[in-house]
Amino acid sequence: MKNNVTSPKVLKTLMEKYQVAPLKRFGQNFIIDGNIAGRIAEAAVTSGACVLEIGPGMGALTSRLLGCASIVAAYEIDAGLSAALRDMFTDETHFHLFHQDFLKADLNKDLDGLFKGKEVYVAANLPYYITSPCIMKLVEANMNIVSVTVMVQKEVAERLCAKPGSRDYGAISAAVGYFAETKLLFNVSAGCFYPKPDVASAVVQLTVKRKAGGEDDEAYLKTVKSLFAMRRKTVKSNLRQSFDLSAEAAAGVLREAGVDENARAEMLSVSDFEQVAYSLKKSAVSFSDLAGEKDLM
Ligand code: SAM
Repeated sequence: MKNNVTSPKVLKTLMEKYQVAPLKRFGQNFIIDGNIAGRIAEAAVTSGACVLEIGPGMGALTSRLLGCASIVAAYEIDAGLSAALRDMFTDETHFHLFHQDFLKADLNKDLDGLFKGKEVYVAANLPYYITSPCIMKLVEANMNIVSVTVMVQKEVAERLCAKPGSRDYGAISAAVGYFAETKLLFNVSAGCFYPKPDVASAVVQLTVKRKAGGEDDEAYLKTVKSLFAMRRKTVKSNLRQSFDLSAEAAAGVLREAGVDENARAEMLSVSDFEQVAYSLKKSAVSFSDLAGEKDLM
């Protein structure tokens, strides 16, 4: 692609040419700072890598990824943007676009043939309205993902990287922390996007440390969600409510896990949640009646 879409002037001209306009409902804020797009690509990808991008938009990040990756597979929900991308990247044979909602995509069906079991690096300027389900889908994907480098709302980045006991630590921190090490790479101001969003952003990197699909994943994630159900309440109280346990049974589960029954979930580490999940499983508690763990923000 020869166009420099991070130039606001070029971007607007191209949007007119392809008759597309930024849609709020799809979280469309396009990067108009070439330096930022370059830094994300550089942090996300090693030379010759297989890359998965979510929401390529007008291709600001995509063109940088294509410059060093051997394959870039991308999911774009917007029909107009998908048509524009196909035209702009028509010469890039290592670009594979899926015009589809990433959250509904069957990643194994779409990508197994392309990536052939190789290591996969994820890069994205994520649509803000679905950050948490996108990240959970990635860390839980049955794929060989090495790292996920994503631009998100700054506040979300802080939550993803928060440590137990801090103000920002919540269910999403504990859920993601089970699968990956998280690191806040750098902040990005609202002026780096068109249209300009109301909030600042940050780029975070998740380095996968545990392959998803283990038999304990569901119990862990549901335990996290349950213990954070009411943040101000003690873990014992949340446990009783979520699993319909007597006071004695809840206290027994926590004792076995080595967790203080009067603690709040925000004080618990990944290993504490694992111990509680293990102890719940041992007491034959059913996890299947609990709601899914997709929305953890
Ligand atoms: N990557 C581009 C950039 O940085 O300039 C665009 C980023 S914009 C914040 C988010 C992109 O995700 C948009 O192109 C939007 O249409 C796309 N998108 C939103 N929801 C999506 C979904 N569920 N599946 C796939 N793409 C989605």
